[in-house]
Amino acid sequence: MKGLCLLGSSGSIGKSTLDVVRLNKETYSIVALTANKNIQCLLEQCIEFKPAYAVVPDNALADIFRKNIESSEASDTVVLSGIESLEFISQLDEVDIVVAAIVGAAGLLSTLVAAKAGKKLLLANKESLVISGDLLMSVVKENGATLLPLDSEHNALFQCMPDAYIAGQRPKGVRKLILTASGGPFLNTSSQQLESVTVEQACAHPNWSMGQKISVDSATMMNKGLEVIEASFLFDMPIEQIDVLVHPQSIIHSMVDYLDGSVIAQLGNPDMRTPIAHALAWPERHLSGVSALDFRKHQQLTFEPPSYERFPCLRLAYEALELKGSAPAVLNAANEVAVDAFLTKKIRFIDIPKLIEKVLENSMFNRAESIASILEADKEARALAGLQVERLQ
Ligand code: NAD
Ligand code: MG
Repeated sequence: MKGLCLLGSSGSIGKSTLDVVRLNKETYSIVALTANKNIQCLLEQCIEFKPAYAVVPDNALADIFRKNIESSEASDTVVLSGIESLEFISQLDEVDIVVAAIVGAAGLLSTLVAAKAGKKLLLANKESLVISGDLLMSVVKENGATLLPLDSEHNALFQCMPDAYIAGQRPKGVRKLILTASGGPFLNTSSQQLESVTVEQACAHPNWSMGQKISVDSATMMNKGLEVIEASFLFDMPIEQIDVLVHPQSIIHSMVDYLDGSVIAQLGNPDMRTPIAHALAWPERHLSGVSALDFRKHQQLTFEPPSYERFPCLRLAYEALELKGSAPAVLNAANEVAVDAFLTKKIRFIDIPKLIEKVLENSMFNRAESIASILEADKEARALAGLQVERLQ
């Protein structure tokens, strides 16, 4: 049995991971589960999977949860609180695999701790790699951790790499990484229409069902921008060798273009259980619960270049990657604040890139060589972004 610590089990990726575990019960035992707010979901998960630990970072909420769990069938589960508990469960001896599925920079420290403990680290939390790219990759390397991407595009790229490829190495013979993008709900929406789109429209992704933050990121295409940065660190590829290609059907999840003219792609139905099952089982394969791809239903696979005019977030992400150091952390922090302000109806959809651009313009960047310098950049960018939200309201 492999011991699993699932950070962010109440979220979209967390639930999909437990779906895969349910199909492979003989292979995995759940050591720890966590939720930030949805303690009802966490309680149900604890009753079903009987983890040794459950973490609820907020102390008051953890007290309520502890009472609920004591009178349930999961009364043996130890409830921990405080954000440091996320780090505690990520390095336990009985944990073999850590699934990092917390959303945003909040997932950074637990991800780093899992890497430092040399775990098999399944990374959904792309923001942690965006903000601490070089640092996280070197912690992975120095401590013999195994980093496997869960993000569907990066998991696809990983699957298209040569045998025995290890994340962090520059793959040999590769001309380009081609990240596919669905284009999100506003692929064909005009600039004028974008001025008045609602939260509900932004969160209604045509192909994927995901958490709110990443849904908005997909609508602005910041998600693809973050993924370009994620790919550059994961595969040690220079910026000019990473392309974005809009592919609205989301059947090809990404492609590797080799020097000899071969292009290797990974295909499948758009369902996160496939990359999750791939990374859990790697280097073997097991069931994911995803149905086989029926090519008769997908007779048209189309491609087009992205629009940098209607989706400036994509350009901003390339610019932040070019600037290096703490610039990606600043981009990410400004984006988190902007998305939250849009979700709480304080700013308009089209204000998101404007806000991020202002924060990038007004920031001083550091080299992002230590956790302290990264956290400092994150904090300053959030403060600058907060001022921009006030200005725009
Ligand atoms: P979600 O909003 O559905 O779930 C987020 C999880 O993080 C929840 O369990 C929540 O309790 C936890 N969380 C939120 N804030 C926290 C905090 N401050 N401290 C501790 N825990 C906190 O999000 P999701 O869609 O599952 O996405 C999770 C991560 O995976 C994101 O980084 C996202 O970019 C990435 N990802 C998601 C998908 C997808 O299909 N959903 C695909 C690729 C990558
Ligand atoms: Mg993705």
